[in-house]
Amino acid sequence: MEITLAIIKPDSYRNGDTGKIIDRIISEGFNIKEMKQLRLSKEKAEGFYNVHRERPFFSELVDFMCSGNCVVLSLERENAVDKWRTVIGATNPEEAEEGTIRALYGTDTGNNAVHGSDSSENGIIESNYFFLKRD
Ligand code: ATP
Ligand code: MG
Repeated sequence: MEITLAIIKPDSYRNGDTGKIIDRIISEGFNIKEMKQLRLSKEKAEGFYNVHRERPFFSELVDFMCSGNCVVLSLERENAVDKWRTVIGATNPEEAEEGTIRALYGTDTGNNAVHGSDSSENGIIESNYFFLKRD
């Protein structure tokens, strides 16, 4: 079993698509290990997207991620990372395959509805970033 981190981003939360996305997660065979709703602080969003710190879109990305509520989920499934990336589709919703979450609920590369981890290691690192129990 593999872990991936999913985030329902502020655009899809605002549009009322949270329930439909969670339904899709369950119907695609993921086990929701952890789930919480939160509004990201600037520091938390910057830390999460630290690999993109030098990119021109970094501040836009951080502002967007802090612009409203997110729902963060740690998902478990066989082949969870690749499966979730297939279900969500390409980064740019206009290029995402029909029926994928980004094609259905995303608008553009910035407002692209959901996040998915890009490797097995990052699935664990990102899940720990939000769900590691320290007490
Ligand atoms: P995510 O990590 O959110 O699942 P991704 O792995 O498909 O998305 P990354 O290359 O990791 O894409 O980029 C992280 C996020 O940064 C994207 O989801 C998108 O919201 C934003 N982003 C990426 N490229 C651009 C861009 N050229 N302009 C604006 N925002 C961008
Ligand atoms: Mg990424």
